[in-house]
Amino acid sequence: MTSGLVAIVLLAFAALVYAVHKTRRNSISREDAWRPGAFHGAPIAFAEKKFFTAWPFPLVAKVDRALRIGETITIAELKTRRSHRIYSSDVIELSAQKLALEEGAGEFVNPVAYVVTQHPASARRQTHPVRLLSRSELIGLARRRDRILAGLETPRLAPNRGMCRSCAFYSRCQPDKSQG
Ligand code: SF4
Repeated sequence: MTSGLVAIVLLAFAALVYAVHKTRRNSISREDAWRPGAFHGAPIAFAEKKFFTAWPFPLVAKVDRALRIGETITIAELKTRRSHRIYSSDVIELSAQKLALEEGAGEFVNPVAYVVTQHPASARRQTHPVRLLSRSELIGLARRRDRILAGLETPRLAPNRGMCRSCAFYSRCQPDKSQG
């Protein structure tokens, strides 16, 4: 190999190492960007992982991100939406994840989780802390759901009609007709 060729190979290798390092650094800083200060650098314990429990009711929940600090797991969920706001359904979803992690994996889970909203066009992110439902509140909701499905209780319309627009049950529910 000529010295010129060696120099080209070395330059190409250096460029590759730099590109890999830069991509990794960018992804780490993007991963850190949404985190509150206390969670910078905290290892990801679970990502996109399903957890199961049969008690206190059958539940499967997929955890988007779970960070570990010491013995405590903190859950975070990324939501792509046009407005940087959170809904009660986010709190219920994350509370179910907490229960599945505690019962299914024996983890201790922080009662405060984080919803990260990302705008679909600008990709701008905002992080919202949410206090999760207690176990008894979650069990109460699950029982109410069972009673509604059994026809023993009447469901209430969603207070925020914006949720109805993306609801899979819209055509069956017809909330605008129900309101008269
Ligand atoms: S369409 Fe009906 S079921 Fe769906 S969110 Fe609205 S009120 Fe709830």
